[in-house]
Formats: sequence, structure tokens, C-alpha cells
Amino acid sequence: MSSQDKRSGCDTLVIGGGTLGLMTALRLAERGVEVTVLESSSPMGEASGVNAGSLASQNKMLAMMPHALEALRLWGGMADYLGADVGFQKVGGLRVAMDDADVELLARSSGEQSRIGVDIEWLEGDEIRLRAPFLGEQVRAATYSSIDCLANPLLFGPALLRKAVKAGVRIEAHASVATIEQQGTGFSVGTQDGRTFPCGRLIIAAGAWSGELARLLGVHLPVALDVNMIGVSTPSAPFMKGVVTHVRGILTLKQVANGTCLIGGGWQGKGSLGSGHKDIDYESSLHNVRLAVSVIPAIAQRTLLRQWAGFEGVSPDSCPYLGPLPNVRNAYALTCARGGWTLSPILSKMLSELILDRDTALPFKAFSPGRFTHA
Ligand SMILES: Cc1cc2nc3c(=O)[nH]c(=O)nc-3n(C[C@H](O)[C@H](O)[C@H](O)COP(=O)(O)OP(=O)(O)OC[C@H]3O[C@@H](n4cnc5c(N)ncnc54)[C@H](O)[C@@H]3O)c2cc1C
Repeated sequence: MSSQDKRSGCDTLVIGGGTLGLMTALRLAERGVEVTVLESSSPMGEASGVNAGSLASQNKMLAMMPHALEALRLWGGMADYLGADVGFQKVGGLRVAMDDADVELLARSSGEQSRIGVDIEWLEGDEIRLRAPFLGEQVRAATYSSIDCLANPLLFGPALLRKAVKAGVRIEAHASVATIEQQGTGFSVGTQDGRTFPCGRLIIAAGAWSGELARLLGVHLPVALDVNMIGVSTPSAPFMKGVVTHVRGILTLKQVANGTCLIGGGWQGKGSLGSGHKDIDYESSLHNVRLAVSVIPAIAQRTLLRQWAGFEGVSPDSCPYLGPLPNVRNAYALTCARGGWTLSPILSKMLSELILDRDTALPFKAFSPGRFTHA
């Protein structure tokens, strides 16, 4: 190694300073691994910093349910783990259905979740308004789970960064990875501003950009782009409780500690990875707000104060990529987890265990980054 290489070299290099990259870096550093994180802009500045803060279980795919339950347990201890308030509240969650097809879908999905041990209560008729008087007449059925929670990404991000730095993780902001070369059993990673970072092991955790980075190693990692939007209302006295989601994934709604309501649900904004630009699609956002009002009519009395959009990477089966990249020794991916903020504590733990112990307690084989390579 040259003297420059000695300064910039490390055991493990993580590309991407979002929650999945930083949590993985932290877990590896806690077990004695020397880790550097390269982040093209500011750490926690993309999806991990602009998300809606829902920590919901009921809207997760069945395959991800064991992971979601364990993630929520870890979130319960997050303030102690990070030594800071992260705005965590166990508020419970309501998942609503508005027509016959929705009710059938909710019955099937909640039945499957109950069978694997999720504590879910079925509500219809008067039971709905007794449990949640703020829900509108158009809500035909709902399920309630006491374990759904929320937290504040704006508190969590800085707390995670502080903990990672304290654990010895080196974080390079404004270090955009442009080249990756295999060198022996390791890699030489180059940034757009001409710096070089040699490393023994590489982890791609670059969110929506992960497909582009895998391509630098000749690996096909299909990643579609979602441009998710969120709106925030003017604050008011508490009038609703819990995280409210729609059974078809088209609404998330909650009132947070400062009295504002966050309205989301995967309605698509505008933007592209190439330009890096993301923006609101007002037509699409109007549908989101109309749906919010039909689920919780009192929302109509609030003013929409601000809206924003963020990039989310999605795999073809909506499951995460977690594990070794196909045909490239010592390279891994952790990305494209739907609800990745919720799942980050457990997925990062799983990847660090797979790397250091070669096994992990929860199922992981279905998340292989190579699963679409030979398709
Ligand atoms: C608007 C919105 C609302 C959401 N709401 C929720 C919610 O309520 N609950 C929930 O659980 N999930 C939610 N999500 C999803 C969740 O935010 C993401 O799944 C999660 O944050 C993904 O984390 P990540 O670390 O994989 O990606 P990111 O946070 O996007 O981090 C990836 C990082 O990689 C960096 N990077 C990219 N290319 C390079 C490169 N070449 N070199 C170096 N660095 C690079 C990027 O700058 C970025 O900081 C939401 C997402 C959005 C967009």
C-alpha cells in the first residue's frame, strides 16, 4: 500500500450513508471491524432523512413479517442504544378498508398475519368508531395492532451518526463513488473528486442508486425508482391516534408529537436518478389528500403546509437485497427494503452477522442479491 492508501484504506467500505449503510457500519464497528462510509451528499440526507417515520408492521409483506416484528422490538430500545431521544412512540396502528374488495383483502392479509402470531383485532360497524372515533363513515372495516409505532427521522439521523462516529466509523460526506476496481481479494474504490479508497470488503447500501453501483462490478441488480411524496399539515390539538394505513398501501397518516399530520402512501412524484431532481406531482398528491379526507374527515379542516418527495429503490419482488453479490468475492449489498427505515435495525444486524458469523437467525436466503441474475 502507498502512504495515501494507508491513510484511506479500511477493512470494510460501505457505499451509502443512509440508515441501512450507517446501521451496518455501526454494527460491524462494534465488533471490531474498521469501517469507512462513503456518502455522495450528506449522511441521512436522502430517503432515510425525508421519510414519514412510520414504524408499522401490518403493512409489511408476509415474508418480511418476522423481520418487521424483530425490528419493532429493536426500535423499542433504540433511544437507550443510541443514547438519545428518537421520538419513538408505541401508538398502535389501524389498517383500513373502504370497499368490498378492500375488505376481502384486509381479511385475507390480517388472517395470514394472525396465523404467524401477530396480535391483530378485527373491527367493523360500531366497533370501528368506538376504537377510533376519528375514522370516517366510508371506512368499512379496519384492523388494529397495538405494536405499530412511530419515530422521528430528524432525531434518529443525528443520533445514529453520533453513535457511529463514537464507535469508530469513519464517514466521508460528499464522496461520490464513480469507479470500483477489484484488486486481488479486495477493491479500489474511486470517488468523483479523484480520491481512492482501498478496502478488503465492500458493501453497497446506496438506496435507489444501488443498481448503478453494482453495475460498476458487472453485477445485474435490478432497482426500480419510486419517487414517494409526503405532505405535512398545520399543527392542531390531538384529534387522532396511531399510524393509519390503507390495506392497498395507498395511504399512511398520523398526527405526530408537534400536532402536525403527515400524509403519505406511495403516491408518485416526479424525478429521475440521472438529474437527482425530485418534485411533487400535484395531481397525484391531490388523490392522496382526497383519500386522507375520506378516511379521516377532520383532515379537511387542516391546511397542507409543505410537501416533499424522496427517492426509494425497489426490487422486482419488493423484498430487500441482503447478502453477497453474485460472482464477486467480498462484495455485499443491503438495499431496496420496502419500509427500509423500519427494518434497518434488523436487516443491518443480519448482514453484519452473515459477514462475521456466516449465519443469522432470521430467514435471509430469499433476499439473495443474485436472485434475478440468471432470470
Ligand atoms: C418520502 C418517503 C417516505 C417514506 N416513509 C417511510 C416510513 O414511514 N417508514 C419506513 O419504514 N420507510 C419509509 N420510507 C422508506 C425508507 O425511507 C427507505 O426504505 C430507507 O430510508 C432506505 O434507506 P437506505 O439507507 O437504503 O437508502 P438512502 O437513505 O437513500 O441512503 C442511500 C445513500 O446512498 C448515497 N449514495 C448514492 N449513490 C452513491 C454513490 N455513488 N456514492 C456514495 N454514496 C451514494 C445516497 O446519497 C444516500 O444518502 C420512505 C421513503 C420515502 C422516500
